[in-house]
Amino acid sequence: MLFRILIFLLLLLVVRALIARLFGTRRKASRSRFRGGSSRVRTTVRGQMVKDPQCGIYVATDLAVRTRTKDMNLYFCSEECRDKFLQGGRS
Ligand SMILES: [Zn+2]
Repeated sequence: MLFRILIFLLLLLVVRALIARLFGTRRKASRSRFRGGSSRVRTTVRGQMVKDPQCGIYVATDLAVRTRTKDMNLYFCSEECRDKFLQGGRS
């Protein structure tokens, strides 16, 4: 009987060690995944985030509809917003 209990305790220790290892590797993996994810976001969204002056949405300069005025560049989320803004400025 004592022998069985000893084996049972040994098994418990082994399982504990395995679980600890699994959790350790999982933590490391999730950390590296997080790093990879953030770097992916950085590479896919290039350029600056600029505010659409018409509707207030932030758009990436690469994806935005760009319009030059006399002294500055304007970025809009869509041609519709650009037209509305230009019409409002004229009147
Ligand atoms: Zn807009």
